[in-house]
Amino acid sequence: MVMNYKPAPGEPELRPGTWPPGGDEMMDIEVILPEQKTGLIGELLVELTRRIAETAPDIIAHGLLGGEFGYGANFENETFMMRPECWCDAEDCPRCAGEVPNFLHKTTGFEVEWYKYIGRSMKATGDAEPIDVFNDCFASLRI
Ligand SMILES: [Zn+2]
Repeated sequence: MVMNYKPAPGEPELRPGTWPPGGDEMMDIEVILPEQKTGLIGELLVELTRRIAETAPDIIAHGLLGGEFGYGANFENETFMMRPECWCDAEDCPRCAGEVPNFLHKTTGFEVEWYKYIGRSMKATGDAEPIDVFNDCFASLRI
């Protein structure tokens, strides 16, 4: 039994289960996934990524824990910008330099930051109503 468990950043933890002393020596391996999408903003970001993928599947970021559209996309238009998490550490990378958020709605300044994938340690900044922000983004994708 493990109490107060916290997963390592970005990784599922593999750990042995418990077994009675002298009992079966087989270990139960339990995969614990970090917290998934959190709330409306997370759902809307994933939906936005899905809609971007309909027109530009090549710019969608992929991973394991975040789900098919859970990593965001490298996308920018007049309405919004989205940047997946990046670990390139290049000096001229705006994402690694902390110069741009993962998501920015340009007219309202509404920003969202996440860690590795959408919903993880997510932080939204701005006064705008998320549903209005994302409706504007969805509309901007309909050309
Ligand atoms: Zn980078």
